[in-house]
Amino acid sequence: MKVKFWGVRGSIATPGKSTVYYGGNTSCTELHLDDGNLIILDAGTGIRDLGNKLAKGSKKLRAYILITHPHWDHIQGFPFFKPAFVEGNEITIVGPEPRGVPLSKIIAEQMNKIYFPVKLSELQARINFMPVKEGTVRVFGAEVLSFYVNHPGFTVGYKITSDNKSIGYISDNEPYSRETARLFTNGEPDVQKLFENYQGDPNDRVLDFIRGADVLIHDSTYTPEQYSDHIGWGHSHYLYTLRVAADAGVKKLCLFHYDPVLDDKAIDTVLAKCRKEMKKMKYTFELCAAREGEEFRF
Ligand SMILES: [Zn+2]
Repeated sequence: MKVKFWGVRGSIATPGKSTVYYGGNTSCTELHLDDGNLIILDAGTGIRDLGNKLAKGSKKLRAYILITHPHWDHIQGFPFFKPAFVEGNEITIVGPEPRGVPLSKIIAEQMNKIYFPVKLSELQARINFMPVKEGTVRVFGAEVLSFYVNHPGFTVGYKITSDNKSIGYISDNEPYSRETARLFTNGEPDVQKLFENYQGDPNDRVLDFIRGADVLIHDSTYTPEQYSDHIGWGHSHYLYTLRVAADAGVKKLCLFHYDPVLDDKAIDTVLAKCRKEMKKMKYTFELCAAREGEEFRF
């Protein structure tokens, strides 16, 4: 498989000189299976540049977009995705349906005439919708496992397995604590129950789905210091992210979904602190801090 990052930021796009190295676009990752088929992970603002690149190709495009949840930083780029405007292209959007709202309605609503000049129904490409719950679906030749994570609303993570290789994608996820969960009302009750009723440490619920993945892209929004002021916001600090990777036994971890206040210098510091922690804890996986434009094969 081949991975390329087009947007690594959480919450809101953060352009400017101080974020130019890691990039300011919100969540979007390009994933190619070994047979060349294209799966896109989230449609944050980074998907615009990816779409511009794809639009230069002469072949008709067939692609799947796996949406983790419909917060803005994961869907906002879709109306600017050029291949969606080209007749003959076929795009299938995969994602959960928070509070029973159809996935097609969720995507259509951000393109109603109040917010955007072109309606979903006016796009020239064929747009399909594939709602997911917790379970497995086939995407091209790959097996795509979706599972609920701990983030306000209905949010899923994905594990994509193809040709004996696998990648976990968990863009937004917070350590789960039974004590603090009771204090917050922004969680989805059905998802909360799954964590609440898990036998043992509820955080292992997520680990069970990604165990042994070759690559894990995981929420690393905060520093531990920032996290203490953001408990219940649905995100991880980097020490927790490292622990998830170690406990799940993944081979490579990519820190992802940085808080808008973390500029390039701050992310460099996070990376250095992570390396120190890994040495101390004797973690052996490979570590990277996701960066716009970076690509690798595994
Ligand atoms: Zn997000």
